[in-house]
Amino acid sequence: MSGAISSVEGLSALLSAQKAAFIAAGAVSAAERKARIQRVIDLLVQHHMALAEAMDADFGGRPQGYSLMNDVLGSLGSLKHARDRLEGWMGDESRPAFFPYDQMGAEAWVMYQPKGTVGIIGTWNAPLFTLFSPLACALAAGNRAILKPSEVVPRTAQLVAEIFAEAFDPLEVGVVTGGADLAQVFTAQPFDHLVFTGSTAVGKSVMRNAAENLVPVTLELGGKSPVIIGRSADLANAASRIAIGKATNGGQICISPDVVYVPRERLEDFLAALASTYGELNPTVAGNPDVVAVVNARHLARVEGYLQQAQAAGARILSLPETLAADPENRRRPLQVVIDPPRDSQIMQEEIFGPALVLLSYDEVDQAIADINARPRPLALYYFGEDAEEQRHVLEHTLSGGVTLNDVMMHPALHDAPFGGVGASGMGHYHGREGFIEFSHMRTVFKSPAYDPRREWGMLPPYGEHYLAAMAAQVTRD
Ligand code: NAD
Repeated sequence: MSGAISSVEGLSALLSAQKAAFIAAGAVSAAERKARIQRVIDLLVQHHMALAEAMDADFGGRPQGYSLMNDVLGSLGSLKHARDRLEGWMGDESRPAFFPYDQMGAEAWVMYQPKGTVGIIGTWNAPLFTLFSPLACALAAGNRAILKPSEVVPRTAQLVAEIFAEAFDPLEVGVVTGGADLAQVFTAQPFDHLVFTGSTAVGKSVMRNAAENLVPVTLELGGKSPVIIGRSADLANAASRIAIGKATNGGQICISPDVVYVPRERLEDFLAALASTYGELNPTVAGNPDVVAVVNARHLARVEGYLQQAQAAGARILSLPETLAADPENRRRPLQVVIDPPRDSQIMQEEIFGPALVLLSYDEVDQAIADINARPRPLALYYFGEDAEEQRHVLEHTLSGGVTLNDVMMHPALHDAPFGGVGASGMGHYHGREGFIEFSHMRTVFKSPAYDPRREWGMLPPYGEHYLAAMAAQVTRD
């Protein structure tokens, strides 16, 4: 069993054939859309353990229960939500016609039509979710799709290709596998829409390539998601929730807390509380199967490079749990907390995306806000505190893809709310109805009445003497 296409020629031929099949088939009924989504659900249900095992092997250690929760159940949530609501989403929407045509029987409506073939490029950190969740919305909107899983998780990518080949005609949903070279070619194809999940740097190249064919893009990128701990926050609760968030997937999540702003006088108390919860979650690191490994040597070297540079520049670094050695063999690492590093250090510029966290002490909350606003716009922002006025102030004076208050990483779990970035953290949305709209063409239709009044009203050339006066009389302020 193979199923994967991995050549440029194969990809290009598949895309042409898929686009032709889409046009030949015409309208895609609700029943057909639901049946396609159900087939994706069925293959996830059938192969969930094999997929969890593949992710475990690809990471060199990722708890299978976590893979089921994040990737399988997360994807099933998106798919079932779309399956059960798409019929309500896809109906034409009546719109009021303008005066005086509305009095003469004109009609207007908006149709939500599928665009055609959606290309979907996924990441390694959430290898199924970044493919299947956009796929749910793309199929709900009546599209076909070609998926490109990340080459960093090769077993998972191969298995995804195999199970789709079993359940789908590739003219409906196809899978191509390969590395950055193939991915680059993928983004230069004339898709009808492209969804890219990945880093901001690669996102720029994706958008450049897509521009050649005027392919609309949804870019789900990353960035340094900040946390502001207000003075009114329950410090132990905030530290505990941040520790839980940071321990998830070894910190390798696009919305993982990256920089935490803490009131200066509470810094040591915060560190103690963080260490306490992190130690409860991960009392050991070496050989602990609950600790998700850094995915490969390249990413480990990247994160360690940030840490070494910060240390050389004089930053204080705390290792949690403090007393235990790292395990270089299987890339499991304690959490490294970097306190007030120099502003120009790499860890202050680059998304960490691993088991490290920056703490910055502040005196006034507006300093934290100014620092966030001086940086590229993040994918997520978190605020802890009971001060409603400060909470509103933070929300109204910052911009991020989404927000969770008094916790971290919760808002993307909403199936019925848009998920996406802003500025450097991306553009466009998926999840729920907003995802359906993203992958639909909103096509406005105007149906004219039988009678055309323009001649009778002197609105057509040759213009009579009243035309200018009649138009001028309508130029009003209210
Ligand atoms: P990446 O950008 O290295 O790779 C992502 C995908 O892009 C892979 O499938 C890869 O094959 C492909 N790719 C690589 N080079 C390419 C090129 N030149 N042109 C086109 N495609 C190319 O990212 P990654 O390391 O897999 O994932 C980590 C990044 O993804 C982080 O920045 C993280 O924040 C972000 N992310 C974002 C979300 C989100 O929903 N916004 C979710 C997960 C991860």
